[in-house]
Amino acid sequence: MKNEALLVINSGSSSVKFAAYDVGADPTFQRIASGKIEGIGGQPRLRVAGQDGSVLEDRAISLPADPARGQEDAFRQLFEWLGGHAAGRTLGAVGHRVVHGGEHFSRPVRITPDTLAQLERLTPLAPLHQPHNLSAIRAIAALLPDVPQVACFDTEFHASQAWVAQAYALPRHITEAGVKRYGFHGLSYEYIASVLPEHLGAAAEGRVVAAHLGNGASMCAMRGCKSVASTMGFTALDGLMMGTRCGSLDPGVVLYLMRALGMTAQAVEKLLYEQSGLLGVSGVSGDMRTVEASGTPEARQAVELYVHAIGQQLGSLAAALGGLETLVFTAGIGENSASIRQQVCHNAAWLGVALDEAANQATSSAARRISTAASRVAVWVMPTNEELMIARHTQGMLPRGARGA
Ligand code: ADP
Repeated sequence: MKNEALLVINSGSSSVKFAAYDVGADPTFQRIASGKIEGIGGQPRLRVAGQDGSVLEDRAISLPADPARGQEDAFRQLFEWLGGHAAGRTLGAVGHRVVHGGEHFSRPVRITPDTLAQLERLTPLAPLHQPHNLSAIRAIAALLPDVPQVACFDTEFHASQAWVAQAYALPRHITEAGVKRYGFHGLSYEYIASVLPEHLGAAAEGRVVAAHLGNGASMCAMRGCKSVASTMGFTALDGLMMGTRCGSLDPGVVLYLMRALGMTAQAVEKLLYEQSGLLGVSGVSGDMRTVEASGTPEARQAVELYVHAIGQQLGSLAAALGGLETLVFTAGIGENSASIRQQVCHNAAWLGVALDEAANQATSSAARRISTAASRVAVWVMPTNEELMIARHTQGMLPRGARGA
């Protein structure tokens, strides 16, 4: 097991994010490089950063305009780059973030033609993500047929939830057909759960809500470092308002859009996934930084609604836990927007949250407590690391098993 690398892939509609880890001599998964190919189908660019954050590559690349062929070619160019910087290492495995594992996959799985076919059947449940996750697996299988690939699921961390947290009040035969709450961002929550003991000590076992606020956003209630409830449901559309997704919505709205406004299912899907959320309400952008900087009345309302939705869902999760001892902010907005954290914490004063304003404003990339010493709820910012979680799972799935064997 010397001089071996693991590659982690998170493949989306217009970008491929990756991280490469050294798994040869060091059991802590040293990240060698990470980066992304973005602008697939538009103006593609390859950006790679080294272990210390230094820029190793940042240049325009040329890809076919067709996004499917573009993705395939993106992987070819990524492997060319990695091959040129492998420093004698061979690629031992590729681990993928796959958004939906459905009912059958509650653990990571080694990819075979059969597992791939099963995962393809889940595409309607995550139309924005699943197709791109799976086409990445196919593209890499074509380029490197002998390298094992492992799928790690955003749903798997939530498999611990009780029946009441997962069921909808729908007829039995619909529930039994798999229409239930799955929850997502599980790799992020699993990582947060893995570092809670180091930061919280014994309180890690207590009642914790983690808020993953990125382009997609959700919250997860944990007890004993296990998922008890989450804001996302059957699809990654439910719960919080997001960059371009609406979050919780009366299902009657969907019926109205189709019946009274004559929208097709495809048009409704586009509206709810791609044109709603911060983008739809602000009319400016789905990117929080841009919305916060814009300052138009609509942008301010978008932020207000975003914060309001977090407050409502936080109340619901605190109820599921029967109280709250720790609140954790993570992902792009959670880790970087002091203003959103401040507004959320202000609204959560009724739960016993008291923010330390100075600690909240301080910029740091380390996990840190931002509530006052007297706050009944400890509030933390913890950087997430989904890639590391995938790397650990992928390594665990390889036949040679434990490291160093
Ligand atoms: P993804 O879900 O694609 O992994 P991220 O977790 O990187 O996304 O989160 C992206 C979001 O984080 C964007 O809305 C971006 O504007 C927001 N964000 C990043 N930095 C800041 C910041 N300093 N202030 C406010 N929002 C930020």
